[in-house]
Amino acid sequence: MAQVVLKDLVKTYGSIFAAKDVSLTVDDGEFVALVGPSGCGKTTTLNLVAGLIPITSGDIVIGDRVVNDLDPKDRDIAMVFQNYALYPQKTVFQNLAFPLQMRKLPRADIERKVAEAAKVLDITHLLERKPRELSGGQQQRVALGRALVRDPAVFLMDEPLSNLDAKLRVQMRSEIKRFHQDLNATIIYVTHDQLEAVTMADKMAVMNGGLLQQYDAPAKVFADPVNMFVASFVGSPAMSLVPLEVSARDGRTVLTSSEGWNLPLSDLNARKVAGAQSNRVVLGARHSTIRLHKTQVADSVPARVYTVEPTGDITFVQAFLSGAIVNISLPPSIVVAPDEMVWLEFDQERIHLFDAESEQALR
Ligand code: ATP
Repeated sequence: MAQVVLKDLVKTYGSIFAAKDVSLTVDDGEFVALVGPSGCGKTTTLNLVAGLIPITSGDIVIGDRVVNDLDPKDRDIAMVFQNYALYPQKTVFQNLAFPLQMRKLPRADIERKVAEAAKVLDITHLLERKPRELSGGQQQRVALGRALVRDPAVFLMDEPLSNLDAKLRVQMRSEIKRFHQDLNATIIYVTHDQLEAVTMADKMAVMNGGLLQQYDAPAKVFADPVNMFVASFVGSPAMSLVPLEVSARDGRTVLTSSEGWNLPLSDLNARKVAGAQSNRVVLGARHSTIRLHKTQVADSVPARVYTVEPTGDITFVQAFLSGAIVNISLPPSIVVAPDEMVWLEFDQERIHLFDAESEQALR
């Protein structure tokens, strides 16, 4: 396996920057997810690494070689696509054997490698079938197998699970993660699904508008998002973001709502908002860090319930707070109704504060 380094990678289409100065290192054996909304540049970045499209500027290093000008077949990579791209007329065995026949490997080696890959992916019993005789999950495993037999330095995967139904997607998610662990493979994996990235990857590269926003372990990105885009993209339900103003009341720094209430800040949070460019900041809070009360408690603020979604063991509530919608989760023992007035208490150690002008996290 190999390390992959992207240095100031740029891809333009006319005046559009599909990828803008993307720099990151995928360590040997690491599973990295490129994640972001539609059009953010993740497929472009993957295709640049694969050599399927030419770069505008920058460098791509795989192992110890700069591969900028190499054909895809010479980059020592294997791709797995969303649509599997299997040969419909060939059996599973022939599909797996094909890339090896192209390399003119001896027949005995081909049979051994196909048998090994089939064993890893648990498709040995399917080797004589044609793709149309397989389920979606089985086809995806064959597509993985075809990448595996090539024994590449890097696996590149573009939304490989998006054609599967929800249940199978969750199952294949675990299988690909297992595949990575067993083989210690270097994998770059494109997905628009932040949950896939969070659950599978060692690191996630969150992209927006062609720019890399944050590149870190999922737990770190979740706990410490660098800006409002990352904060709202990662996590479900999304982090609530409430625009407020900083002011002083009775010697304390408070966040003031246009609705007339004040939320006193802890000393640490008061220091953070002192670094804002103006008195306009955005309070960020994840659903699990907001407590809902039916009556007022100290340092709680008033909100009006909008929707209530019981899911069994957790009830998700949306409420209006200072003109913004906030997501809250409750145990089912607390029952609230739409339009009810409630009081919200924020865990000061776990709230996030952003500069309203730059949208960057205040630290
Ligand atoms: P999706 O999840 O929808 O596939 P993505 O994050 O993979 O999105 P890209 O396909 O990388 O996004 O596209 C990034 C940007 O580059 C988009 O604005 C897209 O419209 C533009 N783009 C991509 N390919 C081309 C092309 N061949 N010609 C012109 N613009 C392109």
